[in-house]
Amino acid sequence: MANYKRVLVAVDLTSDSDQVLQRAVDIAERNGAALHLIHVIEIVSFAYGGDVPMDLTSLQEQIDKHANERITSKASALSYPVAETVVATGNTEEEIREHAAKVGADLIVIGSHGRHGLALLLGSTSNGVLHGAKCDILAVHLQEED
Ligand code: AMP
Repeated sequence: MANYKRVLVAVDLTSDSDQVLQRAVDIAERNGAALHLIHVIEIVSFAYGGDVPMDLTSLQEQIDKHANERITSKASALSYPVAETVVATGNTEEEIREHAAKVGADLIVIGSHGRHGLALLLGSTSNGVLHGAKCDILAVHLQEED
Protein backbone atom coordinates (compact mmCIF):
# COMPACT_ATOMS: atom_id res chain seq x y z
CA MET A 1 0.00 0.00 0.00
CA ALA A 2 1.19 3.52 -0.78
CA ASN A 3 2.76 5.48 2.04
CA TYR A 4 0.94 8.80 1.96
CA LYS A 5 2.81 11.89 3.11
CA ARG A 6 0.27 14.63 2.53
CA VAL A 7 -3.48 14.10 2.62
CA LEU A 8 -5.98 16.73 1.46
CA VAL A 9 -9.56 16.35 2.70
CA ALA A 10 -12.46 18.04 0.91
CA VAL A 11 -14.83 19.28 3.59
CA ASP A 12 -18.29 20.45 2.56
CA LEU A 13 -19.15 21.41 6.18
CA THR A 14 -22.37 19.35 6.16
CA SER A 15 -22.82 16.53 8.69
CA ASP A 16 -21.42 14.19 5.98
CA SER A 17 -18.02 15.79 6.37
CA ASP A 18 -17.46 14.06 9.72
CA GLN A 19 -17.42 10.63 8.00
CA VAL A 20 -14.94 11.93 5.41
CA LEU A 21 -12.73 13.56 8.04
CA GLN A 22 -12.67 10.45 10.21
CA ARG A 23 -11.49 8.32 7.29
CA ALA A 24 -8.80 10.86 6.43
CA VAL A 25 -7.63 10.97 10.06
CA ASP A 26 -7.35 7.14 10.12
CA ILE A 27 -5.18 7.21 7.00
CA ALA A 28 -3.07 10.17 8.13
CA GLU A 29 -2.49 8.49 11.50
CA ARG A 30 -1.38 5.20 9.95
CA ASN A 31 0.97 6.97 7.53
CA GLY A 32 2.15 9.80 9.78
CA ALA A 33 0.97 12.13 7.01
CA ALA A 34 0.35 15.88 7.09
CA LEU A 35 -3.40 16.54 7.05
CA HIS A 36 -4.79 19.47 5.04
CA LEU A 37 -8.45 20.51 5.00
CA ILE A 38 -10.12 22.52 2.26
CA HIS A 39 -13.59 24.00 1.91
CA VAL A 40 -14.62 25.81 -1.25
CA ILE A 41 -17.22 28.50 -1.54
CA GLU A 42 -18.68 29.46 -4.86
CA ILE A 43 -18.56 33.17 -5.66
CA VAL A 44 -21.99 34.51 -4.72
CA SER A 45 -22.54 36.62 -7.85
CA PHE A 46 -21.54 33.66 -10.08
CA ALA A 47 -24.16 31.53 -8.37
CA TYR A 48 -26.72 34.07 -9.63
CA GLY A 49 -25.38 34.14 -13.17
CA GLY A 50 -22.65 36.74 -12.59
CA ASP A 51 -24.96 39.65 -13.23
CA VAL A 52 -26.25 40.96 -9.92
CA PRO A 53 -27.05 44.69 -9.69
CA MET A 54 -25.68 45.12 -6.17
CA ASP A 55 -22.41 44.94 -4.25
CA LEU A 56 -22.15 41.49 -2.72
CA THR A 57 -18.71 42.06 -1.17
CA SER A 58 -19.89 42.17 2.42
CA LEU A 59 -22.11 39.11 1.95
CA GLN A 60 -19.14 37.24 0.45
CA GLU A 61 -16.95 38.33 3.38
CA GLN A 62 -19.50 37.06 5.90
CA ILE A 63 -19.75 33.71 4.11
CA ASP A 64 -15.94 33.44 4.09
CA LYS A 65 -15.72 34.30 7.79
CA HIS A 66 -18.41 31.79 8.74
CA ALA A 67 -16.79 29.04 6.64
CA ASN A 68 -13.38 29.77 8.23
CA GLU A 69 -14.87 29.50 11.72
CA ARG A 70 -16.63 26.23 10.92
CA ILE A 71 -13.64 24.53 9.27
CA THR A 72 -11.36 25.64 12.12
CA SER A 73 -13.80 24.21 14.64
CA LYS A 74 -13.98 20.90 12.70
CA ALA A 75 -10.18 20.78 12.57
CA SER A 76 -9.78 21.35 16.30
CA ALA A 77 -12.31 18.59 17.09
CA LEU A 78 -10.11 15.97 15.35
CA SER A 79 -7.88 13.54 17.21
CA TYR A 80 -5.01 14.27 14.80
CA PRO A 81 -3.12 17.54 14.24
CA VAL A 82 -4.13 19.50 11.18
CA ALA A 83 -1.32 21.07 9.16
CA GLU A 84 -3.56 23.58 7.36
CA THR A 85 -7.19 24.61 6.91
CA VAL A 86 -8.06 26.52 3.76
CA VAL A 87 -11.19 28.25 2.55
CA ALA A 88 -10.95 28.81 -1.19
CA THR A 89 -13.34 30.62 -3.49
CA GLY A 90 -14.26 29.44 -6.96
CA ASN A 91 -15.23 26.23 -8.66
CA THR A 92 -15.20 23.41 -6.11
CA GLU A 93 -13.61 20.68 -8.25
CA GLU A 94 -10.96 22.99 -9.70
CA GLU A 95 -10.02 24.50 -6.35
CA ILE A 96 -9.63 21.07 -4.75
CA ARG A 97 -7.45 19.81 -7.63
CA GLU A 98 -5.38 23.01 -7.70
CA HIS A 99 -4.81 23.06 -3.96
CA ALA A 100 -3.81 19.38 -4.00
CA ALA A 101 -1.18 20.21 -6.63
CA LYS A 102 -0.05 23.33 -4.74
CA VAL A 103 0.64 21.53 -1.45
CA GLY A 104 1.90 18.37 -3.17
CA ALA A 105 -0.88 16.14 -1.80
CA ASP A 106 -0.47 12.49 -2.69
CA LEU A 107 -4.03 11.62 -1.60
CA ILE A 108 -7.32 13.50 -1.81
CA VAL A 109 -10.08 12.21 0.47
CA ILE A 110 -13.59 13.16 -0.63
CA GLY A 111 -17.15 12.02 0.10
CA SER A 112 -19.26 10.21 -2.44
CA HIS A 113 -22.99 9.63 -2.36
CA GLY A 114 -22.64 6.79 -4.86
CA ARG A 115 -25.02 8.46 -7.29
CA HIS A 116 -25.73 6.79 -10.59
CA GLY A 117 -27.70 7.41 -13.77
CA LEU A 118 -29.02 10.91 -14.28
CA ALA A 119 -27.92 12.14 -10.86
CA LEU A 120 -24.32 11.21 -11.72
CA LEU A 121 -24.52 12.86 -15.13
CA LEU A 122 -25.73 16.04 -13.46
CA GLY A 123 -22.48 16.00 -11.56
CA SER A 124 -20.96 14.90 -8.33
CA THR A 125 -18.00 16.66 -6.80
CA SER A 126 -16.01 13.44 -6.35
CA ASN A 127 -16.46 12.56 -10.02
CA GLY A 128 -15.38 16.05 -11.07
CA VAL A 129 -12.25 15.97 -8.89
CA LEU A 130 -11.31 12.51 -10.17
CA HIS A 131 -11.05 13.79 -13.73
CA GLY A 132 -7.73 15.55 -14.01
CA ALA A 133 -6.38 14.94 -10.52
CA LYS A 134 -2.67 14.12 -10.42
CA CYS A 135 -2.71 11.98 -7.28
CA ASP A 136 -4.67 9.16 -5.65
CA ILE A 137 -8.25 9.85 -4.64
CA LEU A 138 -10.22 8.07 -1.97
CA ALA A 139 -13.98 8.43 -2.42
CA VAL A 140 -15.54 7.72 0.98
CA HIS A 141 -18.94 6.14 0.51
CA LEU A 142 -21.27 8.30 2.58
CA GLN A 143 -23.73 6.40 4.73
CA GLU A 144 -27.22 7.87 4.52
CA GLU A 145 -28.43 9.16 7.85
CA ASP A 146 -31.82 7.84 9.09
P1 AMP B 1 -21.44 16.21 -3.48
O1 AMP B 1 -21.00 15.63 -4.77
O2 AMP B 1 -21.78 17.66 -3.56
O3 AMP B 1 -22.49 15.38 -2.82
O4 AMP B 1 -20.19 16.21 -2.48
C1 AMP B 1 -19.47 15.04 -2.24
C2 AMP B 1 -18.19 15.40 -1.51
O5 AMP B 1 -17.49 16.43 -2.22
C3 AMP B 1 -18.35 15.94 -0.09
O6 AMP B 1 -18.52 14.90 0.86
C4 AMP B 1 -17.03 16.67 0.08
O7 AMP B 1 -15.97 15.76 0.38
C5 AMP B 1 -16.81 17.26 -1.31
N1 AMP B 1 -17.38 18.62 -1.42
C6 AMP B 1 -18.58 18.99 -1.90
N2 AMP B 1 -18.75 20.32 -1.85
C7 AMP B 1 -17.59 20.82 -1.31
C8 AMP B 1 -17.13 22.13 -0.98
N3 AMP B 1 -17.88 23.20 -1.21
N4 AMP B 1 -15.90 22.26 -0.47
C9 AMP B 1 -15.12 21.17 -0.24
N5 AMP B 1 -15.50 19.91 -0.52
C10 AMP B 1 -16.72 19.73 -1.05
